[in-house]
Amino acid sequence: MENAKKVTRMAKMSIPVAILVFALKYVAYHLTGSVALYSDALESIVNIIAAFAAWWAIHFSMKPADKKHPFGHHKAEYFSAVFEGTLIILASALIIHQAWGALNHPRMLDQPIFGLAINLAAATINAAWAILLIRNGKKYRSPALDADGRHLMTDVTTSAGVLIGLVAAILTGWAALDPMLAIIIALHILWQGWKVINTSIQGLMDVGVEAEEAIRIRNIVSAHAEGAIEAHDLRTRIAGRITFIEFHLVVPSTMTVGHAHIICDRIEDVLHNEIENARILIHVEPENEAKLPPNTTAVPFA
Ligand code: ZN
Ligand code: ZN
Repeated sequence: MENAKKVTRMAKMSIPVAILVFALKYVAYHLTGSVALYSDALESIVNIIAAFAAWWAIHFSMKPADKKHPFGHHKAEYFSAVFEGTLIILASALIIHQAWGALNHPRMLDQPIFGLAINLAAATINAAWAILLIRNGKKYRSPALDADGRHLMTDVTTSAGVLIGLVAAILTGWAALDPMLAIIIALHILWQGWKVINTSIQGLMDVGVEAEEAIRIRNIVSAHAEGAIEAHDLRTRIAGRITFIEFHLVVPSTMTVGHAHIICDRIEDVLHNEIENARILIHVEPENEAKLPPNTTAVPFA
């Protein structure tokens, strides 16, 4: 539960960070009148909403299982990630719209150096926070934190592109460069948004663990199933931080329920130690259910 607290705290902290970054970007836009900086600030409003959504989803996903949701609420995080991905796509559409207008009426910036410096500061705060979110999202297997971090990273890319474009526009006096770069960045954001949505869809569709992880689980079961004859029909699914694992364990028909249960508990203990947040279900069967010929050296996984 210590991890759960950390994830919730990270999500909550994202809200003031998003507000601070938005405020800085808006000041940068206000000083310069740049349409690219306006788009950059606009994208930050999405962050504030998204940070709220992620915090709510994480908070909700931590709720213990209840009568209506006996497997828990872990998938709530995927909704936040889908919502966030949709907002990213919406932001890119808004930026393209703004950039299109600026392309038809190009103009140079006011107070460019001061404005760009403030935007650079906002981008630096975003970058630091995004790296922290992605790192912790991976560590604690939180799709909402991960999506939040990736989203912020696309913002950093936006800001970097905007800054480079505006410096180039000032140096060359070519004002149309500003909106043109904004469009390229919007397309990049669009791609990021799709990736966030796709990951969440995989989770909502009960994606299993990676192939190597499945092999690791099979090896753990085989190595600790002494007394059993065989294991088969391994199925896994990932729901946010939780990995559901189930399989059949074939034991001699004459084995007592008590003995079979000892074997199950032994396997469960090792799996719990090796795989974080595992939920394990083992179905015990008599030997006529075995799929492989008898083997005396090891407990095979069919
Ligand atoms: Zn079976
Ligand atoms: Zn039991």
